[in-house]
Amino acid sequence: MIEAEYDKEKVDWWSSIPFIAAHIGAVVGVILVGWSPWLIALAVLSYYVRMWAITAGFHRYFSHRAFKTSRAFQFFMAFLGTLSVQKGVLWWAAHHRDHHRHSDHEPDIHSPIMRDVLWAHMGWILCRKFNATKYDKIKDFTKFPELVWLNRFHLVPPLVMGALIWWLFGAAVFVWVGLVGTVALWHGTFTINSLSHLIGRRRYATKDNSRNSLVLALITLGEGWHNNHHYYPGASRQGFYWWEIDISYYSLKLLEVFGIVWDVRGVPDRVLAKGRQRLASAGDGAPSAEASLAAPAQPLDTAPQSTTAAASVEATAGG
Ligand SMILES: [Zn+2]
Ligand SMILES: [Zn+2]
Repeated sequence: MIEAEYDKEKVDWWSSIPFIAAHIGAVVGVILVGWSPWLIALAVLSYYVRMWAITAGFHRYFSHRAFKTSRAFQFFMAFLGTLSVQKGVLWWAAHHRDHHRHSDHEPDIHSPIMRDVLWAHMGWILCRKFNATKYDKIKDFTKFPELVWLNRFHLVPPLVMGALIWWLFGAAVFVWVGLVGTVALWHGTFTINSLSHLIGRRRYATKDNSRNSLVLALITLGEGWHNNHHYYPGASRQGFYWWEIDISYYSLKLLEVFGIVWDVRGVPDRVLAKGRQRLASAGDGAPSAEASLAAPAQPLDTAPQSTTAAASVEATAGG
């Protein structure tokens, strides 16, 4: 029985063929169609537009409910995020809620501490065992039939969009936007599950190994301030201070001005003050008291989860 369970936690190579083929297609495609500054600019644009839908939409809205919006804009964010080919919006958000409940402890399914960095980065996604959507963890959104449909048929929008791009703009645009942009977007997103728990500085003594990194924040529009986020996941911002660049948060504040989103949740003063104390005593979140937590590839102790994180996830999941 145990062996059977373990067998299910391996990369399933047959169902991973499209994932591998996209990588090969991106490289071979670029060799065949060549490149130009315009094609690269289009790929970068498609990367960041969809990254925005993942960070502001899939993560901060659907996983954490860090702001409110209309049903129409909710669907827009879900649709745009679905074009990133990262499975369904409800699948994504439900798994992410579990990550906060168990981060870097059993049964966190993509911890680079409990397993290895490649598994945390993409191995778990290519594992058949985790294909199902945990609808019971995302009940607050299953009442919207359009989201359930989008979650179930998540491959339809990207396939139709890919075909349209090829038909309207040709193979070169398809290769750069549909293959290069999408593959880069996968790995940009995956860094938050892998590298954000290994690289960077720790400001807050969370029960996991989450880190703050400017580089990861720039490639993910603000998600790299992952230690901040694990300490206070209910906020719509992950860069807590003015120097922590968080483009997704700035975009939400702009959308708030136009009334497209509202109740954009901030960070309580006590959390900011605690972070400032850490800055004063230990530099920019440099590991000190949490040195034991910082050692990579070591299973952490199984102390209870941060009540702040757990309470916030529960609060958002229930609301
Ligand atoms: Zn994390
Ligand atoms: Zn989160």
